[in-house]
Amino acid sequence: MIAYSLFKEKSLSGRYITMDLLNATCFSKLNAPIVQIGKSVDGEILKAFSIGMGAKKVLMWSQMHGNESTTTKAVWDMVNFLGTQDELALSILEQCTLMIVPMLNPDGAKAYTRVNSNQIDLNRDAKERSQPESQALRQLFQNFKPHFCFNLHDQRTLFSAGNVAKPATVSFLSPASNKERDLTPNREVAMQVIVAMNNKLQELIPGQVGRYDDGFNDNCVGDAFQMAGVPTILFEAGHYPKDYQREKTREYIFYALVEALTTIANNTFPNYSTSDYFKIPENEKLFFDIIVDNANSVNPNIEIGHRIGIRYKEVLEKGAILFKPEIAEIGLLTEYFGHETWDCSDSVENLPAEIMDLVLTVS
Ligand SMILES: [Zn+2]
Repeated sequence: MIAYSLFKEKSLSGRYITMDLLNATCFSKLNAPIVQIGKSVDGEILKAFSIGMGAKKVLMWSQMHGNESTTTKAVWDMVNFLGTQDELALSILEQCTLMIVPMLNPDGAKAYTRVNSNQIDLNRDAKERSQPESQALRQLFQNFKPHFCFNLHDQRTLFSAGNVAKPATVSFLSPASNKERDLTPNREVAMQVIVAMNNKLQELIPGQVGRYDDGFNDNCVGDAFQMAGVPTILFEAGHYPKDYQREKTREYIFYALVEALTTIANNTFPNYSTSDYFKIPENEKLFFDIIVDNANSVNPNIEIGHRIGIRYKEVLEKGAILFKPEIAEIGLLTEYFGHETWDCSDSVENLPAEIMDLVLTVS
C-alpha cells in the first residue's frame, strides 16, 4: 500500500480550487516544462505539462467543469508520488508518458460553476467545439495522440452505488462510441482498466463504487474520444460519509489513478474481464444529504409519515464554498436514504438550528 499522506499536496484542500491558487503553489514548483495549450474565454492561460518517457501515452484533464475540483487535488497528489524514487513511480514513468491538463475551465473554477464564462458546458461541446477550452483540448488530443484518456470529474452527493444505502464515492464509465453502445475494442480496454481500479477500491471502500449509464452522446468529450478509437475513462469523484470537503474521496481517486497507470504500464489490463465491469452496480439517485423523519411532531403542516429530503446547495461566498441546506422533496420517500437522518420524534433538541428553521418554513 502506498503511503498516501507522504504525497498529498498540502497546498490544496477543500472545494474551491482556482487557477490563481495552482499558479501560486503547484505550477510554481513543478519540475516539468509547462505548455500553453490555449486561453480561456476570460483570457486565462490553459496549461498542460508532460511527465514520463514511456511509449504508452495517457492524456488526462481535470476541472473541465469548474466546480469539480476533487480530481484536480488527486492529480497533484499523483504528480507528487510520480516525482519520487519509489519503484512503482519509476516504472510508470519509464513505461508511460502522461500529458496532464489540471484545470481545463479556469473561469468556471473561479466562479465555482460547472459551465465556462460563456455559460457553456464544455462536456456538451465536443462536436461543435464552439469554446476556446474545447478547441484547446481537441488540439492537444490530436497533437499528443494518446493511447488512453482520463476524463476527470466530480459527481453530486445524491448518487448511490446501486440500489443500496451506500454512496457512490467513486464512479466510472467506459463511454459508448456509438448509439448501439457496441463493445468496441477500445471500449473494452477502458472497461478492463476500470475493473482493475474497482478491484483495488473494493479493498478500501467496499460497495462504494458505481458505474455511470452509457447512453451515447457524441457531444460529450469522453464519447467523442472513444469514437476516435482511444480508450477513454470517465472518473467521477463522489461522496464519502461526512466528507463534504472531499479530502477522503481525493485519496481514493489517487489510488484509482495510480492503479490505472500501473495496469497500463505493466500491460496487465488484458487480464481483467469486461463481464466484471458490468457487475459494478449502476449509479442510482437515492440519496439526500439529510432526511428529516417525523417532522409532523414539530410542524403540523407536514403530513404524518412524510419525510423531508434536504440537499445542500454549494454557494461561493468570499472565497469559500458554503453548504446551504434546501428542501428538495417532501413525501413518503420510502426508497431514499440520507447521508444524515434526523428523527424529530426523539432527537429534536439535537436538530441543527438551520435544519429546524427549514422544517418550520413548511406551510
Ligand atoms: Zn463533470
